[in-house]
Amino acid sequence: MRATEILIPTMKELPSEAEIPSHQLLLKSGMIRRVAAGIYTYLPLGLRVIKKIEKIVREEMDKEGGQELLLPIIQPGDIWEESGRWEVYGEEMFKLNDRHDRGFCLGPTHEEIVTVLVRSEISSYKQMPLLLYQIQNKYRDEKRPRFGLMRSREFIMKDLYSFDQDIEGMEESYEKMYKAYSNIFRRCGLEYTVVDADSGAIGGAVSHEFMVLADTGEAEIVYCDECGYAANTEIAECSPSVVEYSGKFHKSEKDLVSTPGLKSIEEVSEYLEIPPQHMIKSLLYEADGELICVLIRGDRQINEIKLQNALDCVDLWLAPDEIIKRQNLIVGFVGPANLKGLRIIADREVSLMDFAVVGANKPDYHYIGVVPRRDFEINEEYDLRTIEEDEACPTCGSTLNKTRGIEVGQVFQLGTNYSEALNAVFTDENGKNQNIQMGCYGIGISRTMASAIEQNHDENGIIWPISIAPLHVVIIPVSSRDTEMMDIAENLYQELSEKGIEVMLDDRDESAGVKFKDADLIGYPFKIVIGKRTLKNKTVDVGNRKDSQEAAVELDKVCHYIGSLIDSEMGDLK
Ligand SMILES: [Zn+2]
Repeated sequence: MRATEILIPTMKELPSEAEIPSHQLLLKSGMIRRVAAGIYTYLPLGLRVIKKIEKIVREEMDKEGGQELLLPIIQPGDIWEESGRWEVYGEEMFKLNDRHDRGFCLGPTHEEIVTVLVRSEISSYKQMPLLLYQIQNKYRDEKRPRFGLMRSREFIMKDLYSFDQDIEGMEESYEKMYKAYSNIFRRCGLEYTVVDADSGAIGGAVSHEFMVLADTGEAEIVYCDECGYAANTEIAECSPSVVEYSGKFHKSEKDLVSTPGLKSIEEVSEYLEIPPQHMIKSLLYEADGELICVLIRGDRQINEIKLQNALDCVDLWLAPDEIIKRQNLIVGFVGPANLKGLRIIADREVSLMDFAVVGANKPDYHYIGVVPRRDFEINEEYDLRTIEEDEACPTCGSTLNKTRGIEVGQVFQLGTNYSEALNAVFTDENGKNQNIQMGCYGIGISRTMASAIEQNHDENGIIWPISIAPLHVVIIPVSSRDTEMMDIAENLYQELSEKGIEVMLDDRDESAGVKFKDADLIGYPFKIVIGKRTLKNKTVDVGNRKDSQEAAVELDKVCHYIGSLIDSEMGDLK
C-alpha cells in the first residue's frame, strides 16, 4: 500500500465536539468522518481495523460452533408488537412506514427476527443446540449521540443467538460464548474485566458485561482484589449498614419539630444537628402510572435501575410537584408516617434505623425520633441504593475499589422470554412441546475499535495493539525526491509484502517531519526510516511505536528483523 494511492485525510483542526481521545484521534488520523450526529463513514484505514476485529470475532464464533447468517436491517413492526417491545423500546427506535403505511424499524437489535426465523425452521430437539450470528449495522436513536464511535446512532455489532432444548444446554452455550468473548478481547490486545450486569431492556436473568478499562469509560465498576468480584455499580449488590444514633435527642418517642422553610436533607440536617444518615428521604415515584413512596437513608442515592427492576415496571418517573400537591402532600415535607393509600417501598437500610427524621406531611414540620415499622409501615423492602467506593464486598467483605470501563460486549441468558412471547416451540424427546431456551451475545465492533484507542494512545496519536493495527509497518524514505532512497524503499516494500507483512510505503512528497508525525498519529506499530545513513552504511532505523525504542538494523537483515518483531508482538494475541 502506498500513501499516495490511499485516502488518508489527516486533520489538523479538530471540531469542538470531539471530546475524548478516540473521537479526536479517529478524525485526526483520517479513519472516520462524521456524516450526521452519531453517524460516521469509515475511511480505508479505519475500515481495515474494523475488518481485523471482525476477523478475530468470526474465528472465535466459528470455533464454538457459531454459524454466520445475515438478518435484515429493516424489520417489520408486527414482530415487535408480538414480543411486546414495540412500545417498550421507546424513542430510541428508528421507526418508519412503507408506502402502504405499514410500520417498520431499523433494527436496534435482532432477537425478534431471529426468533421468528427459528420458530418456523426448528421443530425438534434434534436440531439444537443452534448458534446463529451476524455482523451487522444496528440503529439506536440516542438522545445525545456523542464521543464519536462510542455512542453513535449507527454502529457495527456482532450478535449471536443461542437456541437450546433445556436450561443446562443454554448454560453450556453461555459458557462457550463467555470463553469466546474472553479470547476475542485478549486477542484484540485489550485490558478488560468481566462484571455482573443489569440485563436492561433485553430481559433475562443472568448477564455479564465485558469492559475495556479506561478512565474515559461511561460505566462505573466496583471490584474486589481479594475474591475477584466485579460488578457494574448499576447493579452491584449493597450490604446494608447499621448506624446507631447517639446525638442530643432522646430516642424514646417520635416528636414533631418545626423546620420552617427547610426542605432539603442538608438544610434540615444542619438545622437540627442530626447527620443525614439518621434522616429518611421520601421520594414519590410514578411506576407504570401508580404513585408510590420510596424511602432511602438521607446520605444515600436511589439507584433507579434497581428500583425499576424491583418493581418490574416499564415507566418510572420522579413525580412532578403538581402530582405531589394533588395528593394533598407538601413538597419538601413528605414523609412515610400517616401516608394513606400509597405503597411504601424502602431500601433495606431504612428498617435498620433506630432514630430517624422524616417529613411530617405538614408544612414546615418534620418528625424526629421515628422508628421505621414502629411508627410507619413498610410494604416492600429491596436493595435500592448505589454502591460506593470503600464499601464491603458483597461476596467476601473486603473493601471494594472503583474504576471506569467501556462496555464492549454483553452476554445474556434469556431463557424463554422471547420464545414464549413469539411462540417458538420444539418437540422434546418425549414428544412434548416446549419453549426454546435462548441466550444472546453482543459485541460492539466499532466501539471495540474506539475502546482500543482510549486504552492505547499518547499525545502523538494512536498506539494500536498489533493484532488490530491497520498495517504492521510504515516505510519512510526521508526524501521522496532522492531516487536512491526511493529505490531502496521500493525494494524493501516488495520484500516485506512478499513475506505477508502489511506495509505502507510513505512515498508522499512531504517533509520527513510530516511523515514521522503522521506515522505516530496513525499508530503503525513499527516504522522503518530510510535516510542518509542508509545510503552511507546500508543501515535503516527501525522504530517501535509502543516504547519509542529505535534500533539501527542492517538493510539486508531488516526484513527478517521486522518479521520477528511482529511475531513476538503478536505473541499470545494469536
Ligand atoms: Zn470480595
